[in-house]
Amino acid sequence: MIPNWLMQRAYLTPDKIALSFEEEKWTFAQLNDDAVVIARKLRANSLNEGERIALLGSSNSEMVVIIHACMLAGLEIVMLNSRLSKKEIAYQLDDSGANTVIVSNELSSVVADTPVRQLLFSTIKESAEQAFVIQESWQSDRTITIMYTSGTTGFPKGVRQTAGNHVSSALSSVLNLGLDEDDVWLCAMPLFHISGFSILVRSVLYGNEVQLHEKFDAVKSAKAVRDGSVTRMSVVSLTLDKVLRELEKDNSVAHSSFKSMLAGGGPVPIDYLKRAKVLEVPVLQTYGMTETSSQTATLAASDAMRKMGSAGKPLFFNQIKIKDTETPGEKGEVFIRGSHVTPGYIGRFSEVDPLENGWLPTGDIGYLDSEGYLYIVDRRSDLIISGGENIYPAEIENVLIAHPNIREVGVCGKEHSEWGSVPVAFVVVSGNVKEADLIAYCEERLARYKVPKSFRFVDELPRNGSNKLLRRKLKESVDLE
Ligand code: ATP
Ligand code: MG
Repeated sequence: MIPNWLMQRAYLTPDKIALSFEEEKWTFAQLNDDAVVIARKLRANSLNEGERIALLGSSNSEMVVIIHACMLAGLEIVMLNSRLSKKEIAYQLDDSGANTVIVSNELSSVVADTPVRQLLFSTIKESAEQAFVIQESWQSDRTITIMYTSGTTGFPKGVRQTAGNHVSSALSSVLNLGLDEDDVWLCAMPLFHISGFSILVRSVLYGNEVQLHEKFDAVKSAKAVRDGSVTRMSVVSLTLDKVLRELEKDNSVAHSSFKSMLAGGGPVPIDYLKRAKVLEVPVLQTYGMTETSSQTATLAASDAMRKMGSAGKPLFFNQIKIKDTETPGEKGEVFIRGSHVTPGYIGRFSEVDPLENGWLPTGDIGYLDSEGYLYIVDRRSDLIISGGENIYPAEIENVLIAHPNIREVGVCGKEHSEWGSVPVAFVVVSGNVKEADLIAYCEERLARYKVPKSFRFVDELPRNGSNKLLRRKLKESVDLE
């Protein structure tokens, strides 16, 4: 059994700060009191223990209270991504079988056309309270959240994340990162994604403050990193780059109390890690997925420079192996095992067993070095095979992103009569740069067969609601040429 997170935390350290949002702060006791009131109002709206609801709202303090209230009310929460289109949301609502969608007033039009019962934040607030007995402890296999994968490789899959999964993830994380009483985690990642949600879980488990930003804002984030009001931050490579650019503007460095940026969700270009080093911003690469309720491996601070580019070692309770090989450096599909791994999917993927002999196949290609450090190479589905040689798009992107005129880059394969497939690069550039310059730049840094055969200059790259590059869309567009 696992204690009810927020109740237990409010009992242990009622007066510690739990949350700051804009100019306001909440202690754990206040957060718990507010969440209990909302939980009772949810009950008054006939939402009972064990039911599955969907939740759609922005990353603000009201949303945090509602998330906790849903947990107190014993509901399974399908976290909807507010950046998705109406159609994508309608799909997830249907697939999840949620009986109600709880939606903030400003986002209500997004779900207005769906057949699912809608419950507005304002309706909940105006409801009377219905008292009920709040469970003091939870079964570890209780589903807390259902999150859809980013849909980078295909249809988004609804992943069950249990109380046990979240707790295991938070405990593994703290065993690696350590904890100070006055740690403050800056959350500018969406709460509907495991990267943001896991910050809330860690906060109630550890008793630490979350500084929540409604949207990622480079200026605000850089200021927080510089002025010492936060000690940790979670980023993806795009937001990391923006914070670094902000700091670079006036050559300022991170505050001495700032401990680390956890960078995950996708590969982080080595060039960014080097720039971060100059600015005294420790960046820890982390590897995780929706199916693992956040981090599976994270680079320890002490290894950040020595093992640049690695996603570290598996966290204490987790195991990683490379399929069919034990040879250091040999590439293969990454398999994961541990108590943070989902028990399964829901909806159309509910029959799919996420495990193979107890291990989660990730679809990612990686290798372990001789000291057991994990390096993620790329997604298996994006591999380009050219003249019998394996080419990983990420390696080419990594080289190009360091070019001073390149803002964004994405590489995919294009069919070729002689080689089978050849790499093609899509670039968003600033200033004046020609294809021939970029080819010459690559020729100096990459084996010949890896040099993109052509470049497409575009205004933006296709990305999904999590801002992840959709290489399959790039591929679709070259296939049409
Ligand atoms: P879908 O499963 O629907 O295709 P997705 O895999 O992008 O979408 P997420 O669960 O949000 O959905 O992302 C997990 C994936 O992100 C990992 O499998 C991996 O490909 C990528 N990823 C995460 N961290 C890293 C990292 N440090 N380096 C490289 N890739 C990473
Ligand atoms: Mg995936």
